[in-house]
Amino acid sequence: MQNQLTVFNTLSRTKEKFEPINKGLVGLYVCGPTVYSDVHLGNCRTFISFDLIYRYLLHLGFKVRYVRNITDAGHLEGDRDEGDDKFTKKAKLEQLEPMEIVQKYTLGFHDVMREFNNLPPSIEPTATGHICEQIEMIKEIISKEYAYEINGTVYFDVEKYNKEFPYGQLTNRKLEDLLEGTRELSGQDEKRGRLDFALWIGAKKETLMRWPSPWGWGFPGWHIECSAMSSKYLGNTFDIHGGGMDLQATHHTNEIAQSQACNHKSPVKYWMHTNMLTVNGVRMSKSAGNGFLPGELFTGNHPLLEKGYSPMGVRFFMMQTHYRSTLDFSNDALQASEKGYARLMASIKTLENLKTSDTSTSSIKDLEKSCYAAMNDDFNAPILVANLFEGARIINSVNDGKETISAEDLDQLKKIMHDFVFDVLGLRPESSNSSKDKALQGVMDVILDIRKEIKAKKDFAASDKLRDDLKKINITIKDTKDGATWSIEE
Ligand code: AMP
Ligand code: ZN
Repeated sequence: MQNQLTVFNTLSRTKEKFEPINKGLVGLYVCGPTVYSDVHLGNCRTFISFDLIYRYLLHLGFKVRYVRNITDAGHLEGDRDEGDDKFTKKAKLEQLEPMEIVQKYTLGFHDVMREFNNLPPSIEPTATGHICEQIEMIKEIISKEYAYEINGTVYFDVEKYNKEFPYGQLTNRKLEDLLEGTRELSGQDEKRGRLDFALWIGAKKETLMRWPSPWGWGFPGWHIECSAMSSKYLGNTFDIHGGGMDLQATHHTNEIAQSQACNHKSPVKYWMHTNMLTVNGVRMSKSAGNGFLPGELFTGNHPLLEKGYSPMGVRFFMMQTHYRSTLDFSNDALQASEKGYARLMASIKTLENLKTSDTSTSSIKDLEKSCYAAMNDDFNAPILVANLFEGARIINSVNDGKETISAEDLDQLKKIMHDFVFDVLGLRPESSNSSKDKALQGVMDVILDIRKEIKAKKDFAASDKLRDDLKKINITIKDTKDGATWSIEE
C-alpha cells in the first residue's frame, strides 16, 4: 500500500510530495558523528530518527543508498575557524595518536548504534579517506572565483557568492541580517568577509593531522567533507540530506554554498532536520554537562537517572514524539515508555495463539490504512504508535473472547504488527539480562515442570490451583499444544 509519502522540506518550509529524482531510487545523506568523544543520547536521537526514515523508505520498496559519514578530521573546537581540531586536542590530552582517538570512538559509536537496533548505512565514508576529493572540490571553487587563499588557508567568499545565490536560503535569512549577527573582523583576521569560512586550513607547527595540498600542509574544513563525499556517492544533486536542526545555520548553509559554487546546481531536493533532545528544556550537549551517554542510561549510573533503561524502551520513547518536535527527557516519560513497549511486545506474543472465527468485529483494513497514513504524513511515528496500540487492543479483546477475528484478517493483523513494529519502528523483542529476571525465568521453568508432572498424574485440581494462584499475582499460564507458556499481565 504505497499512498503518497510527504516530507517536510526545510528549504521550502512546507510538506511536499516525495518524488525521488530517479524513480524507485533514493539517495540519502546524513551528517554523522565527530568521533573525538562518545556520542550522547541527543546525538543518538538524530541517528534513530533517520533510521526510522531509512527503514520506512525501504519498507515502501525504494532502493535506498544511505550515506552517513564519520567526521574524523577537520572539525575545529569552535564552529568558527579557530582553535585546534578536536582530534588533535583530545589526542594530546589522552597522549594517543589522533587516529587512536578516531578508532576508539568509531567503534564505540557502532556499538551504540547496534544497541539501538539502527541499521548500518550503505556507505560510511570518512573525511580522512577523502582528502583528495576535498582538495579537488576546493580547487574547483577557487577556479570559479568563490574562494581565495591567504597564508596556506583557503576561505570561501560568502559576500561574492551571495551576489549570485541566496546564501541564507536554508534558514530564510538575508545576508544583511546574518552579517549583523556576527562579530566585526579584527586586525588579526586573515579572511576578507565576516561570514567567510575555511575550506582548507593551513597546519600550524603543533597540528598533528595534516596533509599536503596545493596550498601547503594543512587539513580540510568540516563543511567541505560533506559536500565532497555526498556528491561522490550520490551525485551533484540528490534526494534527501539530513542532520540535526543545529546544523542548518552554518554547516548545511555552507554545504549548499560550496556545492552551488562548484556545480551551479542546488545539491539537495529535500533537506530534513530533526529536532533536539532536551533535559529540563535545555538542549542536551557535551558543553551543557547534561549529555549522558547511552551506557550510563542503560545502567542508570548518572545523577539524573532514577534507574537503568533498556535500549528498546529508550527507542520506543523516541518513537512517541515526532522527529521535528523537541523531546524532553524525563524519568517518568521513560518509565511510561518502557511499560508501553512491554505491552506492545506482549500483544505480539498473544497474536501467535489467537483463535479465529468466521467474521471480524474490528476492521483490520482500516487499521492498516491508518498506519500508512501516519507514516506517509512526514514519518509521523507517534500516530503510528497510537494505531499499533489499537492493534494491541484488538488482539487482547479477541484473546479475552470479547471480539472475534477471521483467519484472513488475523494474517493481515500479524503482517501489520510485524511490519510496523519490527521493520519500520525498528523495535526488537528484548530479553532482559537482569539477574532478577533471569531468576524469575528459572523459577517459572521449575514451576511449569512440576505442573507438567502433576498433570501427568492426572491431578487436574492441583494443576488448576497452581494456575489460579499464579493468576492472582498477575502471572498467566496458557496451555498450548507445544506445552505451557507464561506471561506477566502489565
Ligand atoms: P556531532 O557529533 O556533534 O557532529 O553531532 C552529530 C549529530 O547529532 C548532528 O546531526 C547533530 O545535529 C545531532 N545532535 C547534537 N545534539 C543533539 C541533541 N541534543 N538532540 C538531537 N540531536 C543532536
Ligand atoms: Zn555534514
